[in-house]
Amino acid sequence: MPKKLLILLGVIILAVSLYFGWLKFHDVFTEIPLINTSNSENEETVTPELKDEAPAGFDKTKYALDKSASPWWVVNKTRPLPAGYVPADLAVPDVRLRLADSEEQMKFSKSATADLIAMFKAAEADDVQLVFGSGYRSEALQRQFYNSYVAQDGKAAADRYSARPGTSEHQTGLAFDATSVSQNCHLEICYANLPEGMWLAANAHEYGFILRYPDGKESITGYQYEPWHLRWVGTELATEMNNSSAKTLEEFFGLPVAPDYL
Ligand SMILES: [Zn+2]
Repeated sequence: MPKKLLILLGVIILAVSLYFGWLKFHDVFTEIPLINTSNSENEETVTPELKDEAPAGFDKTKYALDKSASPWWVVNKTRPLPAGYVPADLAVPDVRLRLADSEEQMKFSKSATADLIAMFKAAEADDVQLVFGSGYRSEALQRQFYNSYVAQDGKAAADRYSARPGTSEHQTGLAFDATSVSQNCHLEICYANLPEGMWLAANAHEYGFILRYPDGKESITGYQYEPWHLRWVGTELATEMNNSSAKTLEEFFGLPVAPDYL
């Protein structure tokens, strides 16, 4: 092999090894800033995730509290319904009913019916047979009920458990009283200890329902504990309230307490 060729080969080998050596050297150097970059990239990816997980807060203004079509409509002793209000979308839901489907009380607002059916099915899957005891009540029917309670127990006592006509949540079509097949503890506090009552207390929020008159909140809601009275507000709010210490609509939305009529 001529000497020149040997030299050329040597130069090529040197050049190649220098090139790969430089690559390795370059890698080492570029990895250092890469580590820093990846750190800051991590921070950048964490930040938007945090923003997603912790939005500015639950949007309490998403739906109106004083509009009849709103899932968040708050009705209590100081927030009566418009006189003679009748929901526009009443229908008999396809769930286990306490009374004949021709009865006015077996109606419910269609806007809440899909969640109602889903809740009854989920309970059934857990071997709990919920019964739709009483849903919509017209102002006239509520008047009949209220007057009979007043005749039976006196006005002061009746006001603790029955709404005066024009102020009942049942008139919204968004609330119902649950009961059991045996009607054991029907509209009684012991319903809370039945499988039906316990299931509802634990799971109703997942289907958009809240226990509207919780234990110990009479000074806020104006009603004694009613473990059977459920109000549909949608899953978003029901879930938020389940995670919150504010268990009544009045507390959650910072509304004036409504222990009595104005
Ligand atoms: Zn009720």
